[in-house]
Amino acid sequence: MAELSVRMRELVQPHLTGIEPYDPMFSPCRINLSANENTYPLPSAVRAAIDEALAATPLNRYPDPLANELRDALAARHGLERTQVCVGNGGDELLFNLLLAFGGRGRALLTCPPDFSEYAFFASLLETDVVRVPRDPETFAPNIPEALHAARSANLVIVTSPNNPTGDVLPLEFVEDLCHACPGIVMVDEAYGEFADEGVSAVPLLGRHANLVVLRTLSKAFGEAGIRCGYVLAARDVIDVFSAVRQIYSVNVLTQAAALVAVRSRDAYAPVVERIRSERERLHAGIEALISATSAAGRVWRGQGNFLLVRLPDAARLRERLRDEYSILVRDFSSAPGLAGCLRITVGTPEENDAVLSALAELLKGDES
Ligand SMILES: *Cc1c(COP(=O)(O)O)cnc(C)c1O
Repeated sequence: MAELSVRMRELVQPHLTGIEPYDPMFSPCRINLSANENTYPLPSAVRAAIDEALAATPLNRYPDPLANELRDALAARHGLERTQVCVGNGGDELLFNLLLAFGGRGRALLTCPPDFSEYAFFASLLETDVVRVPRDPETFAPNIPEALHAARSANLVIVTSPNNPTGDVLPLEFVEDLCHACPGIVMVDEAYGEFADEGVSAVPLLGRHANLVVLRTLSKAFGEAGIRCGYVLAARDVIDVFSAVRQIYSVNVLTQAAALVAVRSRDAYAPVVERIRSERERLHAGIEALISATSAAGRVWRGQGNFLLVRLPDAARLRERLRDEYSILVRDFSSAPGLAGCLRITVGTPEENDAVLSALAELLKGDES
């Protein structure tokens, strides 16, 4: 991670002097469970259909700026109209555009950290103040009364369900109350929505709240983090804003083609999602058993995404040993605010999860002696 040079600090806009490039702390490993990707192979029929679609895509023409065919497929998936969908170059672009359109100097974004670090990062790029209502330090439950109070004077709210990295989902009444309380836009980031239980998505609330925006992505359950495609669902006039501020050709022809196949094949993903959900429960039980078998103080939280948040003794060192001795990469949050001692482990394939459990068993046992 490089700080800006002295020379560049004088040249960039004053509010950008402290920025540093995002560092996903990636190093090549046999098992990468650090980025909440879907580590299962794409269903083979889907992969074949994508390859065919890509091969048939001309590269000499500009993309359809709004990706209307893809919007139609997404709208159909969610029982909405095309005019209620905007696609982006990953959910990240849409988060940036949300801040670009509705944030800005002298305006406030409300968040409930620990949450996705990109929210505060994009807010800082766009000079948006961040009002933080932290979660309970032990349970990570959001502070609902405080958040509702703060929402009344916020221009923008972003909440996450399931939340990254804590894994919990928000009660829908809370989302509705936020929509009533906030005079501006309320975004519910559902990047992990497909992994959660039935009935926790805010999508059905869109008809009732004109200031609600739901963010989704093809990067997680759909197993297409590499193609960079996300989308927002909202009322038509909100979508008009997203459509107006976006980089015109940000979603390229190959991405549009691959995403269209994936969305139309969504039923083929159901067994993979089911598998990840059951592996998540198995991994949770396994880690819980390891913690109680050692005298080590630790905790693993229940989560509804494709990852688990764990607190283990000497977490930063443990993460290094997993990487260096077992070639397993997990995400270290132990120096992030509110997440002391915490690692986030993506739920992988059964073999990958077994490797994590046996490595942790050895490392935690060694820790005891
Ligand atoms: C992964 C993720 C996203 C979006 O990721 P993209 O790959 O940019 O679509 C958004 N929000 C959260 C909380 C995430 O974890």
